[in-house]
Amino acid sequence: MIKKLEELAGQEREELIRFLRRLISLKSYSCHEEKVAEFVEKTMTAAGYDEVIVDQIGNVFGRIGTGKNRILYDAHMDTVGIGDPASWEFDPFQGKRKDGVIYGRGAVDMKSGLAAIVWAGRWIKMLGLEGDYTLVVAAVVQEEEGEGASIGEAHRQGFIPGMEDGRIDAVLLAEPSNLELKRGQRGRVEIRLSAQGRSCHGSMPEKGDNALYRLAPAIIKVKEMEDKKQLGFDPVLGHGSIAFTRCISSSGSLNTIPDSATGWIDRRLTLGETPGSAIEELEKKIGGGIKFEVEHTDQESYRGYHLKMPKAFRPWLLDEDSRLLRAGKKTYEQLFGREGTVSTWVFSTDGVYTSGAAGIPTLGFGPGVEKYAHTSDEQVEEEQLIRAAKFYAAFPMFYAG
Ligand SMILES: [Zn+2]
Repeated sequence: MIKKLEELAGQEREELIRFLRRLISLKSYSCHEEKVAEFVEKTMTAAGYDEVIVDQIGNVFGRIGTGKNRILYDAHMDTVGIGDPASWEFDPFQGKRKDGVIYGRGAVDMKSGLAAIVWAGRWIKMLGLEGDYTLVVAAVVQEEEGEGASIGEAHRQGFIPGMEDGRIDAVLLAEPSNLELKRGQRGRVEIRLSAQGRSCHGSMPEKGDNALYRLAPAIIKVKEMEDKKQLGFDPVLGHGSIAFTRCISSSGSLNTIPDSATGWIDRRLTLGETPGSAIEELEKKIGGGIKFEVEHTDQESYRGYHLKMPKAFRPWLLDEDSRLLRAGKKTYEQLFGREGTVSTWVFSTDGVYTSGAAGIPTLGFGPGVEKYAHTSDEQVEEEQLIRAAKFYAAFPMFYAG
């Protein structure tokens, strides 16, 4: 099986690279993924997937098989913006190819992972690698706006074909991992702080109650919490962290004392911490009339579906001895002839829902180096793209046994 897969991967190398470059050329900012969705749907259909659907949200799902073991592959179709176009050496939407590397927005986060999982289905079909498993390849929307939101909604609503009852045995996330096996990540929560005061003219500040001054001590205390490492700790995922990232006031002009001030905190959660425990901790340590709330998002998908969710994401860690991690390691060894590296992610993924909230065993493995994500030299090595696709084509057989 491995030998045939190697041969086919060699023959199809150029076609897979072309597929990735086309995906990069189709701009797909969050809530505007329709062109990529249509292209992915067409590619899955042409590859002979048993069922291909676009759900009400706009996610594309391709199913192969109806076997007992249910495996979900997950990649997001959206990308972040490009920032200042002048900071790009190559056109971010060209899919520039140079010396075995592909450049552009989404090259690493995560159109290469998306291309590889979609193409793996094609190879499974071409080589007849179906077994006692149901594989669904998911291309989801709006991950960059709220990880876990679209896959979570599809899972809860029964939109995932072949898995409508909600049972999924294993999730494989194709986010960039430099081809390492990722077994967890910290969670996070976006917290809004608000302070109230009383406005008056800026020439007589003593007549009012400046809400910014009420908020200011909270900013200092947040810094102290970070400096003194007063947050949770886990030996694998490390410390929780906290950062004050934005502050605004209601001041109607530059000579008005503001009657309200609002700030935001980016709080990363390690194992043992939850969004709720993080808020309680702030209330205890800062208090002082400041109100703490979890930030929410309400985004309309390109199909007009409202995804409402709190920006609160739980940490997760896959058991070292789990069946899923063992299958991942075995696939890696059989394909690449050595032991795979197991580590954890620094950034956040759909695993906050699949594992953190839904409790489904979740593993990460994807092409590309994480540090290039969201940068203007976003890039992926072609060889990593090919290797990842081979891994995804072989993995279900090793998982199903
Ligand atoms: Zn990503």
